[in-house]
Amino acid sequence: MSSIEALIDIDQTESAEIRIDPITGNRSLFSRKFFQKGEVIMDFLAKSVQSTPTYLTVQVGETEHIELFPDCLACANHSCDPNCFFDTTSMQFVCVKEIAEGEEFTFFYPSAEWDMNQPFKCDCGSNDCIDYIRGAKYLSQDSIAKYRFTDFIQRKLSLKR
Ligand SMILES: [Zn+2]
Repeated sequence: MSSIEALIDIDQTESAEIRIDPITGNRSLFSRKFFQKGEVIMDFLAKSVQSTPTYLTVQVGETEHIELFPDCLACANHSCDPNCFFDTTSMQFVCVKEIAEGEEFTFFYPSAEWDMNQPFKCDCGSNDCIDYIRGAKYLSQDSIAKYRFTDFIQRKLSLKR
């Protein structure tokens, strides 16, 4: 049995399912159907608003970090070549490229985080991997030009220039 087949679904919606790597215990969010670029995968809500970020939150203001509902959205992992985006203005989780059924949903963490409290070395494997993920504050102009950002992060980026 491949490791993918050994993964367990513990929470699922019509559009997405969580898979847990049986070895590392890491959770990921996978698509349950085909999506076209620009399509809304699901609407989300702020389950809570916190003043400090955690690995489960998305930043929407200087000291506002929302915990996502449905909970499964917290399992969406980072990629430097993401296929999804959290639009925290429309409160929609959207596709930024075509997504096949069974493909992992990923988003670019700095698209919704200014200055991360848990930076990490990326191993997403994409050709464009930016290596060290610390938040939008630290991105090069090249990276800023390439990605979509939340309205909050956009404002922060425009003030920085
Ligand atoms: Zn990367």
